[in-house]
Amino acid sequence: MFGYHPKISIGAHNLSQQETPHTFAGNPIDRADQLRRDESDIHDLMHSPNARILILAGLDPLITTSRNPSTALGWLPYGKAKEFVNAEPNLSALLGVTSEGNPLVAWNLNGSARSGSDQLPQSDLDQLNLEICDARESAMLISGEETGILAQARANLGWHSTHQFCARCGDPTEMRRGGLMRECVGCSAQHFPRTDPVIITVVTHGDRCILGQSAGRLSAMKMYSALAGFMDHGESMEEAVRREVWEEAGIRVGRVQYHSTQPWPFPSSLMIGSHSEALTTDINKDDFEMTDVRWWDREEVLLALAEKSENLRVPGPIAIAHHLIKAWATGQAGIFV
Ligand SMILES: [Zn+2]
Repeated sequence: MFGYHPKISIGAHNLSQQETPHTFAGNPIDRADQLRRDESDIHDLMHSPNARILILAGLDPLITTSRNPSTALGWLPYGKAKEFVNAEPNLSALLGVTSEGNPLVAWNLNGSARSGSDQLPQSDLDQLNLEICDARESAMLISGEETGILAQARANLGWHSTHQFCARCGDPTEMRRGGLMRECVGCSAQHFPRTDPVIITVVTHGDRCILGQSAGRLSAMKMYSALAGFMDHGESMEEAVRREVWEEAGIRVGRVQYHSTQPWPFPSSLMIGSHSEALTTDINKDDFEMTDVRWWDREEVLLALAEKSENLRVPGPIAIAHHLIKAWATGQAGIFV
């Protein structure tokens, strides 16, 4: 049996200290901007025998099935990846380079963890001890740094897959700079990969905080989380927090303190986490968006974080909400402790 060992040397190119160990943050890849200036050079890099390929199917990644020593992304040498898939990938992007300068490339194929992929024969996957894994689930199995790589690959390829045509004139667009932009073949308009900013905040008042249950996913899981919403145009992060909390909970918010951010590649959000101060306390929730919104005592929140509460369930550590709630409950939330 061919036992493929996918470890690659990426180095540590994340340019800042990682304040909070968020899943999908901490990507160590050198994105190699200086190598993305000439389209034919980029093409050569992406088709180089030295390239390491990360295959995704329907934006779900290939991971190793081995749990020993640990599960990892299923990087394949370029030659192996090419003989492995039945057809050329629908979409590929240059993620960056390893510490030895080897190109790191992501391919997206048809299919998904749920449906499988007709381009990846199951017998070959078994032979290489690889499997296609749901992106959320795989993020809980692979290393923190690799979740950052997965976020980059998934968000970028996802954006390219839905931006094949120019929003200005309707002509086809083509990838440029290995994935950093698209250019229209008709009007030459340049289109850049989108990241959607979402504010998420724990509203506090003394020893209580507000957690809510939005209609849909959270409600189905009977889970309460920090209030969140997309930022509008022409508003600051603090203003978006005050507007969202007013809309969802009917609470007036004063001071807002930034905590940290989390890339969230479903499909390409940036969660902007904060703690905020309630100026009023009577909740008047938005019945359309929210199933429930309430004040919770710190004691109950601490029990929920330890999964010992009978009344309250909160999101796990994969979500920034968990860390915002925990920071407040354990007295680490700056001025809002
Ligand atoms: Zn155009």
